[in-house]
Amino acid sequence: MALLKIRKFPDPVLKQAAAPVSNIDGKLAGLIESMVQTMYAAPGVGLAAPQVGESQRIIVLDTDHENPGRNLLKLINPKIVEAEGEIVWEEGCLSVIDYTAEVKRAAKVLLRAWTPEQKEIELEADELLAVALQHEIDHLDGKLFIDRISRIKRELYKRKLAKLIKEGKAEEKRPSAVRI
Ligand SMILES: [Zn+2]
Repeated sequence: MALLKIRKFPDPVLKQAAAPVSNIDGKLAGLIESMVQTMYAAPGVGLAAPQVGESQRIIVLDTDHENPGRNLLKLINPKIVEAEGEIVWEEGCLSVIDYTAEVKRAAKVLLRAWTPEQKEIELEADELLAVALQHEIDHLDGKLFIDRISRIKRELYKRKLAKLIKEGKAEEKRPSAVRI
């Protein structure tokens, strides 16, 4: 199965709000499988469809890389219906080169979504999974974790990235260590 190309900030597809999926069919299943392979290969704990240039509300996650596949989630039209508490996590992103930052999120979330088998499911999450779900759903809304840090930090990062691109070094830089 072909790995998909991961789009990097400032690619405009990352800024778009993704469209809800209205039809779960074989073509969609193929895209989801390619997203799963791309996520494991990266490696990352999560991947949203806009990160591979597909502006659709689909995310895949696996926070348990010790046992790949056992806790793999493939979620279509995911929606957070309840959120509580606060947690600060050092986040990175497969689409943000060479950068991590602390981001404040809800500590616990209750989520509803559809599976590729056309089942509607409910999921409770905390810790890394809660963080990753919120991070991925942000991608579906055209938002990156760097939109959730202070303006000064964001501007400094943009300058650093512009310098890397200008020097032709952006390509050789890996996405940050904690990749969601
Ligand atoms: Zn991300």
